[in-house]
Amino acid sequence: MLHPAWIEIDLDRFQKNLKVIRKRIGPTLFCLPVKADAYGHGLAEISKTAEESCVVDYLGVSCLREGVILREAGISLPIVVFGALHEDQIPDLIRHRLEVTISSRFKAELVLKECLRLQTKCPVHVEVDTGMHRTGMRTETARDLLNWMSDQKHLELVGVYSHFATADRRQNPFAFQQIEEFQRLKSYFPDLSAIWHLANSGGVMFYPESHFDMVRPGLLCYGYLPDGSQDPEILPCFSLKAKVSYFKVVGPNQGISYGHLYRTDRKTRIVTVPIGYGDGYHRSLSNRGIVSIRGKTHPIAGAICMDQLMVDVGNAEVFVGDVVTLVSADPQKGPSLEQIAHLANTIPYEMLCSFHGRLMRKYVGSISQKSEKSDMS
Ligand SMILES: *Cc1c(COP(=O)(O)O)cnc(C)c1O
Repeated sequence: MLHPAWIEIDLDRFQKNLKVIRKRIGPTLFCLPVKADAYGHGLAEISKTAEESCVVDYLGVSCLREGVILREAGISLPIVVFGALHEDQIPDLIRHRLEVTISSRFKAELVLKECLRLQTKCPVHVEVDTGMHRTGMRTETARDLLNWMSDQKHLELVGVYSHFATADRRQNPFAFQQIEEFQRLKSYFPDLSAIWHLANSGGVMFYPESHFDMVRPGLLCYGYLPDGSQDPEILPCFSLKAKVSYFKVVGPNQGISYGHLYRTDRKTRIVTVPIGYGDGYHRSLSNRGIVSIRGKTHPIAGAICMDQLMVDVGNAEVFVGDVVTLVSADPQKGPSLEQIAHLANTIPYEMLCSFHGRLMRKYVGSISQKSEKSDMS
């Protein structure tokens, strides 16, 4: 083991989630968002597993750089780039066969100009703003653009899409409003050959009428529901573990770590774990986080340091080299991601994206050929 703190990804569970979702969406196209290093699960490894599973039709990334990493890893699935288009990146986007998002007539003309120069075609998705107000055209503007595009031979219209602002909860009136607005735009183009897509994880789970031609569930594929509820068929794949690196007994009324934010109330055992905010373990979990060692839950004692943290294990038997579970894919075996995110005052999405730097990624499960590898890029 090169490093005593690591992320463990269960690829069997991940692939099972994909199959469960595929079964539930029927013939609808399935786009897997793998942005932000596949929600911290490893961009290339997760994308390869998805491609081999044969149940995913598309991958979604946020930027050129992520798309290039996938092409260089030999991924051949279609890839759509969700992020706003940057003019200087257009040649590289085209060269790597990445499908771009168009959010204005101006951007469409930039892409067209480049296609004419290179004498090639570029696959594009037109993004419509139905209420998220992040990127995307108002539906009336999108109507005009779609009409204009039908005459542009070099712009190959592949999809039209929008994004939900509030579909992470069931029966949300604004989510229904967004579906309606998207449907209204679609109804103006009964003969247009394009993939219409809107649903994120919330849409897939809670709004079946939002599925259209393709769905884009991210969080759900990684094993979590956006409203924090549980689904017996959807299982987390992500664990965070480390090995105890040090152990000592301290007397009562002793301060632990920087600033002595924690004081022992008795003679107790303090163990040191080689992971800190330098690895993305949030400092806000100081005196709040919990970990599991030998099946028992223990509190984090004092401030989390850059590279280490301390745990008060009381009189429990713990030895150097014992495995500490900081996040567990299996809630029976340690704190869940949801629990840790809640204690850190954030959401599972941000928590998953936080872990980085020195941490290794270990892929487990029968379908992982490589048992240990770090694919941090
Ligand atoms: C991130 C993202 C998704 C996936 O969202 P989840 O809430 O993780 O399902 C879908 N579509 C777009 C455009 C995104 O940026």
